Amino acid sequence: MICYVPAEQAPGEPRAALTPTTAQALIKLGLTVRAEPGVGRASHYSDADYVSAGVVLDADRDAALAAADIVLRVRKPSVADVARLKRGAWHVSFLDPFNEPALLAAFAQAGVNAVSLEMVPRTTLAQKMDALSSQASLAGYAAVLQAAARLRLALPMMMTPAGTILPARVFIIGAGVAGLQAIATAKRLGARVEAFDTRPVVEEQVKSLGAKFVKIDLGQTGQTAGGYAQALTPEQIARQQAGMAKVIAQSDIVITTAKVFGRKAPRLVTQAMLDGMKPGSVVVDLAIESGGNVEGSRPGEDVVTPNGVTILGHANLEATVAHHATQVLAANFAAWLTHFWDGQAKTLKLDLQEEILKGCLLTHGGAVVHPQFAPKS
Ligand code: NAD
Repeated sequence: MICYVPAEQAPGEPRAALTPTTAQALIKLGLTVRAEPGVGRASHYSDADYVSAGVVLDADRDAALAAADIVLRVRKPSVADVARLKRGAWHVSFLDPFNEPALLAAFAQAGVNAVSLEMVPRTTLAQKMDALSSQASLAGYAAVLQAAARLRLALPMMMTPAGTILPARVFIIGAGVAGLQAIATAKRLGARVEAFDTRPVVEEQVKSLGAKFVKIDLGQTGQTAGGYAQALTPEQIARQQAGMAKVIAQSDIVITTAKVFGRKAPRLVTQAMLDGMKPGSVVVDLAIESGGNVEGSRPGEDVVTPNGVTILGHANLEATVAHHATQVLAANFAAWLTHFWDGQAKTLKLDLQEEILKGCLLTHGGAVVHPQFAPKS
């Protein structure tokens, strides 16, 4: 089987779906691995290292896509690229399936097995292929560094002969994978850290990192079977906002990571809250790609409010640590392929009842097969 990894084409996307190390693992399985020249350049993996690992570089992208049995890429493809794939081929990538019905229809029409990394179940068995977690963790880390670089304050407490510098105050809203890594990073930098999440199980995790959990009584909240937060009612959001307003006003950095899987992110930080913050404070909206948690945040921009608060609305912050983001993302791809690889037949196992595949296979045999995305008759 031929596995082809094209270079990413989306502007500002330095990550790749393959490293020389994962290429070696795929070749060991029995795959022929081809890649577009320059595939890892933006994340500092050289063509020479891919070639040394046994990868065949193929610059004829369209022909290579048409010849491939498996295509790995980070970002969703164009509909035109989908049409180039051969029937029965596998395509594994992030797909943004809740917002891409036309792309799913194109995959179905092309007879391709489209696998969505977002939909890999967040179970212990699938942990090694959990690309949402591997990338969110680095985004949480990067969010703190981006905020610290713009803040005109030091983060740790410093006792100097000229007086004591107090630690900066950091508030993390949403303590999932990204939020917990942001807490850990801010703590390592010496900040005083507080956090809030609607899932009650998170309180212990926040405390174990040395941060304070902000208590807000929202009534019934909880989480889905998959571990995700339930959407709040408008009344609960209003209560949450009231409970957070004072902490936000006292914070030097606020990092928001609050998401509800498959839905628009809740709007949690209002203009009035921003107005109450100190000049020079920094807010990072990590939920920007799903609509944003912060009023006035704009995708790809630093917005400075009239009272001098900077709001960072940059998606894909993991791209600022692209070498490591690619290292772990490529490992997620390799783990996925290894899990489904049939070493005897030297092909991918297509067991439609297998739990992980049932979760992440969106199209097969000419149709959208995933119940969440299949057209309703
Ligand atoms: P996510 O990106 O969907 O959401 C980020 C965080 O925002 C979550 O912790 C969520 O509870 C929180 N949130 C939602 N609405 C909020 C609100 N109004 N206010 C404050 N916080 C709010 O989630 P994620 O980080 O990708 O993962 C969430 C959870 O999934 C994990 O913490 C874990 O329980 C589970 N998970 C399990 C595994 C595994 O078992 N292998 C792996 C990864 C994640």
